[in-house]
Amino acid sequence: MPYTTLLRDVFGFDAFRPGQEEIVRAVTEGQNVLAIMPTGGGKSLCFQLPALMRDGVTVVISPLIALMRDQVRALQAAGVGAGALTSGNTPEETDAVWEGLEQGTLKLLYIAPERLAAGSSLGMLRRVGVSMIAVDEAHCVSQWGHDFRPDYLRIGELRRALNVPLAAFTATADEETQAEIVNKLFDGQAPASFLHGFDRPNIHLAFAAKDQPRKQILGFAAARKGQSGIVYCGTRAKTETLAQALREAGHSACFYHGGMDAEDRRIVETRFQQEDGLIVVATVAFGMGVDKPDIRWVAHADLPKSIESYYQEIGRGGRDGAPAETLTLFGADDIRLRRAQIDEGLAPADRKMADHARLNALLGLAEALSCRRSALLTYFGETASNCGNCDLCDTPPEVFDGTEPVRMALSAILRTGEWFGTGHLIDILRGNATDKVRQRAHHELPTFGVGKAISKAQWQAIFRQMMGFDLIRPDPERHGGLRFTQNARPLLKGEAQIQLRKDSITAAGQERRPAV
Ligand code: ADP
Repeated sequence: MPYTTLLRDVFGFDAFRPGQEEIVRAVTEGQNVLAIMPTGGGKSLCFQLPALMRDGVTVVISPLIALMRDQVRALQAAGVGAGALTSGNTPEETDAVWEGLEQGTLKLLYIAPERLAAGSSLGMLRRVGVSMIAVDEAHCVSQWGHDFRPDYLRIGELRRALNVPLAAFTATADEETQAEIVNKLFDGQAPASFLHGFDRPNIHLAFAAKDQPRKQILGFAAARKGQSGIVYCGTRAKTETLAQALREAGHSACFYHGGMDAEDRRIVETRFQQEDGLIVVATVAFGMGVDKPDIRWVAHADLPKSIESYYQEIGRGGRDGAPAETLTLFGADDIRLRRAQIDEGLAPADRKMADHARLNALLGLAEALSCRRSALLTYFGETASNCGNCDLCDTPPEVFDGTEPVRMALSAILRTGEWFGTGHLIDILRGNATDKVRQRAHHELPTFGVGKAISKAQWQAIFRQMMGFDLIRPDPERHGGLRFTQNARPLLKGEAQIQLRKDSITAAGQERRPAV
């Protein structure tokens, strides 16, 4: 089964995080691996996914019992055979683990390091066909570090006795610790090491509020005529119409999506690889196999699914290290669509919550008030300062105190019972006594007309930013009626202030000027 299918079906992720894919590949191939990733970067997936790709059971050594139990529970919930041998086990739990091992139903066996001291484990592990060893928090093997665990010194013996590949993971990057890990866990034989940062400094990052998407994408492409680029779209139909529009504008462009037959897709892939200056307008189906080093630009005509997808998709640009440019468009409709896709999906409730959180992270990035790259890297656990290569470093956005209009909007939502969408709410705020407003007596509300001074387009930008900050969310059970999240409470109570970006509001203000 391909990695991406497992990634989606078992783990529920739509894209790899930076660094994960290469590590997953190396571990699956059975290389000895040392991977250094920041905390929260997603190390566990780098051994869990390969464990499913390989025959036999993967032994995971981890120092934290609570964490082990959490991971085992999550794996089991996803239908993966996993168990743990720790001092916290009940005898029944331990029996069940042994049984799973004997029957070959376990894919991952978590072992607390102290269990390695109990000699009986080794005999058993020899019998059951261990395919590899994964060591979490590998720096615990370092005698000079704060986290030294004497039992970690036995891992080297275990590897020798089982004669299987070993993958070691840690967030500690200093060289002395690395050298010690190599000595103690790999007997001094250099493993494949993954320790580069995630930053792709040659890729310029930019977002823009979506006003006239076709015009915006055509403009972006026109400024880069003759260069190879990818435009990602949210729907198959749009890839076809946009490719047509690009061709009419004199570009060499074709479309690509999962609905095409394999032969047609292969033709596009080959053309893209071989021709200079071809633009491929595609859904996310395009990219996994694309290994073209000189893609000079990547544009998103629609907002990606998550911050991980965003990173992966823009990361296809500039693999040769030369400058590459990106532009991601986003609008309130994108946000609504992505939320609805999550809410209407079949995933369990906790996965939906995590999906919303990942979408929020992307929206936070879209509405960032300072250096975009540093916001992106911070999300993946790295620290960064102003990069000088993103739209916000180029032109720092002007912000203004948006507390008052945001409160007005929240108040309109509150007084109408959290049942309505932006259109109706803006009518109330701007004092438009439409039929719908009158029928519901909303022209009698104290909020009616309080926001007259703000144009309709400006209100739309304010609502979009409010969604971006996750103050409000459309409720699918109320036909998309906007409801508050917890984050809105301090603002409603007058305990917090909020800064909004002026530029997206002025841009939106210009976009709807009546065409007279
Ligand atoms: P680490 O061990 O590196 O601190 P974890 O393995 O616990 O990090 O992962 C941190 C978080 O990132 C978890 O909530 C996990 O669900 C999430 N995560 C990992 N990989 C991905 C991915 N490819 N896409 C989205 N979320 C991911």
